[in-house]
Amino acid sequence: MNDCVFCRIVAGEAPATKVYEDDTLCAFLDIRPIARGHMLVVPKQHAAELEDLDAELGAYVFRAGHRLALAVRRSTLAADGANLLLNDGTAAFQTVAHVHLHVIPRKHGDKFRFAAGVVLRRPHDAESTAAAIQAGIAALERDEKPGRNGKLGMERPEEGAQE
Ligand SMILES: [Zn+2]
Repeated sequence: MNDCVFCRIVAGEAPATKVYEDDTLCAFLDIRPIARGHMLVVPKQHAAELEDLDAELGAYVFRAGHRLALAVRRSTLAADGANLLLNDGTAAFQTVAHVHLHVIPRKHGDKFRFAAGVVLRRPHDAESTAAAIQAGIAALERDEKPGRNGKLGMERPEEGAQE
């Protein structure tokens, strides 16, 4: 466990700019972002690959990624969209053996490209980026009105509720 850099980040033993944390998972800025606001969502419980990950926990990780993708649209990063990407296994370019979901804010015309594991890496100001994302999360929470299904701000019609 101590050899795992993401477990050390979860434990606060390795530096990272965290943007979200709860009892189950945390999200922090990728130290080699391909776009400003590029985050990793990791379960706090160590699981090297999807093979080792509890399915419910995996669903929770994705739900957090979903919310962060909505949050960056509401933040001053002004994302138009996001890539949610999970590389499972070294064959799929997984570089840290602790399951992580990439959430990469995208803008129209940003020209970031993925090609055979080679990605463009750009430096960014972590502190202001994290603050922007956290403001986006706060904006998302304001949008999440009571009476909607779940906490994602998604409205789903209730079957048989209307005549
Ligand atoms: Zn780990």
